Amino acid sequence: MTSARRILVAGGGAAGLCAAIAAAREGAQVTIIEKTDSCGKKLSMTGNGRCNLSNFEMSADAFNEDSKGRMKKWLGRFGVQQTVEFFTSLGLIIDNEDGYLYPITGQATSVVNVLVKECERLGVTFVYNEQLKKIIPTSSDNTPCFKVMTSKNEYEADRVILATGGLAGPKSCGATGDGYYICEQLGMKVKDTYPSLVPLLSEDETLPEKSGVRAYATVSFMIGDGVFASEYGEVQITSNGISGIPVMQASGLVAQHLSKNRPVTATINFFPYYDNDQFEQLIDKMLNLPGDRRLEDLLSGFCNSNINEMILRRMKLSGSMKAKNVGANMLKCILNTYRDVRIEISGVSDYKKAQVTRGGISLGDLSDELMYNKMPGVYVVGELCDVDGRCGGYNLQWAWSSGYIAGEAASCL
Ligand SMILES: Cc1cc2nc3c(=O)[nH]c(=O)nc-3n(C[C@H](O)[C@H](O)[C@H](O)COP(=O)(O)OP(=O)(O)OC[C@H]3O[C@@H](n4cnc5c(N)ncnc54)[C@H](O)[C@@H]3O)c2cc1C
Repeated sequence: MTSARRILVAGGGAAGLCAAIAAAREGAQVTIIEKTDSCGKKLSMTGNGRCNLSNFEMSADAFNEDSKGRMKKWLGRFGVQQTVEFFTSLGLIIDNEDGYLYPITGQATSVVNVLVKECERLGVTFVYNEQLKKIIPTSSDNTPCFKVMTSKNEYEADRVILATGGLAGPKSCGATGDGYYICEQLGMKVKDTYPSLVPLLSEDETLPEKSGVRAYATVSFMIGDGVFASEYGEVQITSNGISGIPVMQASGLVAQHLSKNRPVTATINFFPYYDNDQFEQLIDKMLNLPGDRRLEDLLSGFCNSNINEMILRRMKLSGSMKAKNVGANMLKCILNTYRDVRIEISGVSDYKKAQVTRGGISLGDLSDELMYNKMPGVYVVGELCDVDGRCGGYNLQWAWSSGYIAGEAASCL
């Protein structure tokens, strides 16, 4: 009788828990080494505590350029449908909110709970408060075998799955990027990392002073006159920068450009539903209105008052001026600015405020089973890989897909 394969999973987050279940279901003897005192700390914070765990609008295009080519295959092996079936098999009902998938409980902690309970049911061993430090290959023949060193112990394993996550999120949830140097020690290529799905910073002095403003708008990101990303949604403008989903979606790319000293400008259009002709007609209506109105009163029926204040500040005009004294040309110029508010981006917020890490272990080093090509038996999954997706359940889908594929492969191959 052959003994069960010993699989060590480093990191008890979304990808690690999923990998552990997949491997244990195939009969492997699985141990999870988790550096904090519990599993799934970050997972329990996701989706504002509700966990947007996937999205029915799943496509490789929702992921970073370097992963798109292979993502289709990975999603084909373990995609949304398999994810829904997986969670159903754990006893968790999934709710579909316009394509965005959440646990019906409305609680991210219930996702953590069903994953941990399934691991326990399958006999997975949990080791808490131990940090993976080093992996040393020990086999003398072609059968993989490893000595795994942690902050407290040494383990022997036939397969090791690295699921230690990236740098995004609070440090208290274990987002310390340990996996990068551990993989580097093994000879893997680590691509430069950047915070992604993160607010952007600006030193623009005309930004709203108080609590800021939210508005549905289109934001285009430009280097010079060239637009490299354009997004629509609810933009949030505060005294120190811009955020909201459309800004976050482009933030990884912005971070990459800024790191190469390319100046990035965000252009906000507060009237995205109007084409040029329709906006011209709107301006004509406004030009007929002034009468005795003050500028701020005229604009109060046109757009959000905080945005009006910001625009007048940018144009160095006082709202108390009589609109008719401003002149038609100037008034036209003011109104046109609402479709072209340019804000220079000075930086991105730090990893603490980011939802995911851009960059990481190069996919070129990994097989279709997420195994390190040069060291059979070592697998890399989840955020640690050079994969980052859009906001909307895509990053967790990657954690489930990569975790399940690697867990199954590690126990079978
Ligand atoms: C605030 C917030 C909200 C988010 N909301 C969503 C959302 O709604 N939908 C979505 O798709 N994505 C969301 N994300 C992104 C998502 O959380 C991550 O993509 C996902 O958690 C990555 O899973 P992972 O298992 O690779 O890493 P993690 O979940 O970070 O897990 C890594 C684990 O490894 C442990 N670890 C680290 N180093 C070591 C070591 N040396 N030894 C042992 N253990 C170690 C850590 O303690 C941690 O438990 C959100 C992220 C944040 C920060």
